[in-house]
Amino acid sequence: MTDKRNFETDAIRSQSDRSEFREHSVPLYLTSSFVFDDAEQARALFADEISGNIYTRFSNPNNTELIEKLCLLEGTEDGIATASGMAAMYISMASLLKSGDHVLASRSVFGSTHQILNMLFPRWNITHTYADLSDPSSWESKIQPNTKMIFVETPSNPALDLIDLEWLGKLAEKHKLILNVDNCFATPYLQNPAKWGAHLVTHSATKFIDGQGRVIAGAVLGKKDLIKEVRFFARHTGPSLSPFNAWVLSKSLETLAVRMEKHCSNALLLAQWLEKNNNVEYVKYPFLPSHPQHQLAKKQMRLGGGVVTFEIKGGIDRGRKFLNSLKMISHSANLGDTRSIATHPASTTHSKLTEEERAAVGITSGLIRISVGLENMEDILNDIQQAIEASKL
Ligand SMILES: *Cc1c(COP(=O)(O)O)cnc(C)c1O
Repeated sequence: MTDKRNFETDAIRSQSDRSEFREHSVPLYLTSSFVFDDAEQARALFADEISGNIYTRFSNPNNTELIEKLCLLEGTEDGIATASGMAAMYISMASLLKSGDHVLASRSVFGSTHQILNMLFPRWNITHTYADLSDPSSWESKIQPNTKMIFVETPSNPALDLIDLEWLGKLAEKHKLILNVDNCFATPYLQNPAKWGAHLVTHSATKFIDGQGRVIAGAVLGKKDLIKEVRFFARHTGPSLSPFNAWVLSKSLETLAVRMEKHCSNALLLAQWLEKNNNVEYVKYPFLPSHPQHQLAKKQMRLGGGVVTFEIKGGIDRGRKFLNSLKMISHSANLGDTRSIATHPASTTHSKLTEEERAAVGITSGLIRISVGLENMEDILNDIQQAIEASKL
């Protein structure tokens, strides 16, 4: 097929070739290794002269299908699927950096990404500097002669701050740096960082890509020459995704567009509703006109995403009471599920940061993150309404 097709069609119609059984939906290849035709083919496969499956730590038809689909959806050349989002973040950096290198990162990165930069990389003399999403003018002066990579999350978790990807792509180009964007919150349906010049696009597929709270997985997508290095690192260190999870995710992608449309329209309704509620201190959502970067959100995102953050008047004590009063919405650390989930980042996902570090990335003590699910909106609002009432001190 050579015709350019649209997102939903690629997500559904890009699949591995049929086997002799002419199955409509792609089967699961639960095998750890593959059989060689003869000694010559085995030699050529190991010498990388021909492509084909050898061993599932290197590749497997289910993983290949998932990656080819993700590359179509993100507009990237190549990629690799990993056993978790963190494996993707880790290998996307560790495979391309060496002792003495420096990373410029947005201050608000996922908690475990923070731990990699703060606690693990210094062991191997890889250093970093954080820059604030809210202050783009400070970024260029933080680039050092040994800076190799810029790593960012936009929108950030959980404060939902953004950075202009087009501007960042140009900055990376000017200084010959690798731009690595964690696109987990937006998913390929809402935002394609490669279009703005990102060389690597990393994902936790655990979130909206699966969308049903079933698997832990990740992906590193990007330029062919960089993915070659990432693949070498992964092949020999082994953070491979299981074929079963790859198969689940390839099915999940078939419905990503319809799910994201609904997550986003539900999230916008919730954000608008919270904004009118006088028990609420503030609400943040990229597609609310009150978001300080609303214009930028509209430029680089198709819709505002499935996460809303807010703070109830009454601070942390009332926030906790609110969480304990929810009847339907799950109190859990995940996001991007069909089920709505409420999280208190300051005491859970971001508890390893100091209060100062949290303040610097917009995580106030009472901030509550809602990953808005696909339940009926009336039921979501009713639960939040009753929990707000019950939390009155
Ligand atoms: C969850 C998450 C990760 C980590 O992914 P896992 O699949 O849990 O390993 C990384 N980045 C962001 C933005 C996330 O939300």
